[in-house]
Amino acid sequence: MKKLNINQIISDIPKNLYIGGSWVSAQSGESIPVENPATEEVLAHIECGNSADAKLAIDAAEKGGEVWKSYTPRKREEILRRAYEILIEKEDYFAHVITMEHGKSLEASLAEVRYSAEFFRWFGEEGIRNKGEYSLSPSSGAHILVHHKPAGIALLITPWNFPLAMGTRKVGPALAAGCSVIIKPASATPFTIIALAEVMEEAGVPPGVVNILPCKGSSDALPTILEDPRVRVVSFTGSTAVGKILLVNSTKNVLNCSMELGGNAPFIVTEKADLKAALEGAMIAKMRNIGESCVAANRFYVHEAVYEEFVDGLAKRMSAMKIGNGFEDGTEVGSLISGKAREDVHGFVEDAVSKGAKIVVGGKIPEGKGYFYPPTVLRDVSKDSKTICEEIFGPVAPIRKYSSEKDMIAEANDSPDGLASYVFSQDVVQAVRIGKALETGMVGINRGIISDPAAPFGGVKQSGLGREGAHEGLLEFLETQYLSIDL
Ligand code: NAP
Repeated sequence: MKKLNINQIISDIPKNLYIGGSWVSAQSGESIPVENPATEEVLAHIECGNSADAKLAIDAAEKGGEVWKSYTPRKREEILRRAYEILIEKEDYFAHVITMEHGKSLEASLAEVRYSAEFFRWFGEEGIRNKGEYSLSPSSGAHILVHHKPAGIALLITPWNFPLAMGTRKVGPALAAGCSVIIKPASATPFTIIALAEVMEEAGVPPGVVNILPCKGSSDALPTILEDPRVRVVSFTGSTAVGKILLVNSTKNVLNCSMELGGNAPFIVTEKADLKAALEGAMIAKMRNIGESCVAANRFYVHEAVYEEFVDGLAKRMSAMKIGNGFEDGTEVGSLISGKAREDVHGFVEDAVSKGAKIVVGGKIPEGKGYFYPPTVLRDVSKDSKTICEEIFGPVAPIRKYSSEKDMIAEANDSPDGLASYVFSQDVVQAVRIGKALETGMVGINRGIISDPAAPFGGVKQSGLGREGAHEGLLEFLETQYLSIDL
């Protein structure tokens, strides 16, 4: 990858709000510092929108939405396809922006950019397949015509862990459906979404269709948007706690809610697993994005017949990973997002140890600048430790031994969350039996990665409502209308 000058990127990137196709100053007069978590240095300040800015963004989205929904689905598809191509053309630039504010390695950021771009290509193609239905009512004889139309202005709230992908996974389907959007990026990583504005403009998206409103989660801008009757969708990715607040705040106008919330994925290795494949899958499921992923393997259940071998193999692989600044060649484990995040992760490890777990590798905060945390393996972890009951969001793998499949499944399902799970077994009947019994929206079978623009991503129980990706992702931004016709 071509190495770019970070100081130049920081100096060139806009630091204000993108409303109606123009860069405008925030009326709040406030700004938020954005840090490079690998160095603890402030990169720049981003201006912070308030209620008055939110009103301007809604007006702009209303105007832009009128133009956008008048475009044919084919024209929208061509623009989204172009946005996909531009993102790929600029992949090195976007990888640098992600690494500078998130801390993951350049290689991981590049993988994110390619994954993110795919949502534009996929949803452009899905948008032209917005099919309806025609039927004849068997009782009344009425002609029933069903079609799906753009739901209206959508508020998109994104997290920091995949600053680009969590944006395009929402912008892609919203635009393909004919909606205009207001994006509120995470305060820790706003510049990636800010940089996306130029891509959308260059692709031919008219002013007002995509508006970007950086602000704090506590800003009065958000209630203003949620309470405006022109806004019809709120699509949120983030923690379950904030998702619940948004659900309550969406009741006033009975908004369409799409909620991608927290996870606590069990990773199951049966006695019939191909251990090499299970270890490779574990490394991806645990260490992709330094464990800062909602679908990260959070707790490992390993059959007693293969427990020792799995613990040893995982410890060897985890301890061999290179930790460092994401811009350094060969870095595999970048920094966590903040000092608070690192303290939380370390607290999980201390809690597990206080309840009897043994540290096999890792478990110590390194000295020096940057919020680094080493890949950590814990064995003999007790059932009631926080690493088993809550989302870790870091590079820590707590492992439990099991002997009874039935008890293991009951334990895996004993969680309020139900986003993802993983099963490794060469016995396809066993793998599917366990997979179907798990109370999660997604199951990886003999695979450590399940995210795919062509598949319906989402959780059950408190992990969320609705789906992103696949055709289902488009439906989140469409309203179904039926015409009952007497001919
Ligand atoms: P978060 O604290 O919930 O923040 C997510 C977004 O919500 C940020 O933009 C945040 O803004 C905003 N926010 C915070 N308080 C708000 C409020 N009261 N009203 C409206 N918006 C508010 O989550 P996070 O720490 O960024 O992300 C980690 C969580 O996201 C994890 O639990 C992870 O599992 C989940 N996640 C889920 C998925 C999925 O697809 N299911 C994918 C990725 C992540 P500020 O940044 O300004 O606080």
